[in-house]
Amino acid sequence: MQNNDIIRIAVQKSGRLSEKSLNLIQDCGVDYSAGSRVLKAMADNFPMEFLFLRDDDIPEYVHDGIADIGIVGRNEVDEKGYEVDILRDLGFSRCRLSVAVPNTVSYEGIDYLQGRSVATSYPKILKSCLEKKGITADVHVVSGSVEIAPTIGLADAVFDIVSTGSTLISNGLREVDTLYRSSAVLIARKGLSGSQSEKQRIIERLLVRIDAVMRARHYKYILFNLPEEHIEEVSRIIPGMKSPTVTPLYKKGWISVQTVVKEDDFWDVLEALQGLGAQGILVTSIEKMTQ
Ligand code: ATP
Ligand code: MG
Repeated sequence: MQNNDIIRIAVQKSGRLSEKSLNLIQDCGVDYSAGSRVLKAMADNFPMEFLFLRDDDIPEYVHDGIADIGIVGRNEVDEKGYEVDILRDLGFSRCRLSVAVPNTVSYEGIDYLQGRSVATSYPKILKSCLEKKGITADVHVVSGSVEIAPTIGLADAVFDIVSTGSTLISNGLREVDTLYRSSAVLIARKGLSGSQSEKQRIIERLLVRIDAVMRARHYKYILFNLPEEHIEEVSRIIPGMKSPTVTPLYKKGWISVQTVVKEDDFWDVLEALQGLGAQGILVTSIEKMTQ
């Protein structure tokens, strides 16, 4: 029986999601002390308990209420098919699921798969993607080393996670179609986040922190000196800037400007500022940022 005054979060014990999941939680100001071999740990300064699991098990544990929330790849959520609420897309551990075929075959489109055999560890996602395109393929479920399937005569094509594509190349395959994209998501037991419970209140507190951390990651804080006459132009260059903080400098005709800039616009803004004669441009990351 779970304590109702704390929430339990399931995170991957060790793998591609672990470090980024724990960094996010730590950036939310939640600390815990646990050795690397433990399966469970209590946060020191937040009503939260950690369960360290294999990523495959996270959707089921959250669905069954063993954990209240969890961080896992969207691919695992969709593949396992348990009904859970997706509270946030966390944007890290991005990957794609693609079709790959042997270099020797000519592939002209997804119709190639019609009636052919495809090896994958993601049968549910594959079938659903193919169904949307009206293709029926013979899906072979394999749990690992998917990419050797064509070489050993098990399948005509594979459908697998790709990040750099080097594993495919070394097995004489080429990526031909991306059917699905994934990143880490924060999931919760269905209905939990809409309830009036104490757990719900704790989740809301955590979400406020997660949103502040994620927003901060998308922005940079910049500080620079500028000839006073260019302030109007600067306000036009920096998108979304309501009003910059401006301080006069001892040197006449010069001001110091502080503002935030979206990470995506950062390099364009920097070049434009230099073009307007800005000097001593300082850039720092932002730790937290509320709306
Ligand atoms: P576990 O032992 O927990 O079952 P695993 O080997 O199944 O771990 P990882 O390889 O750690 O899983 O990948 C976890 C998740 O990271 C994947 O489900 C996927 O969402 C994401 N991911 C991002 N890039 C990649 C990649 N290049 N290969 C595999 N997974 C990736
Ligand atoms: Mg796994």
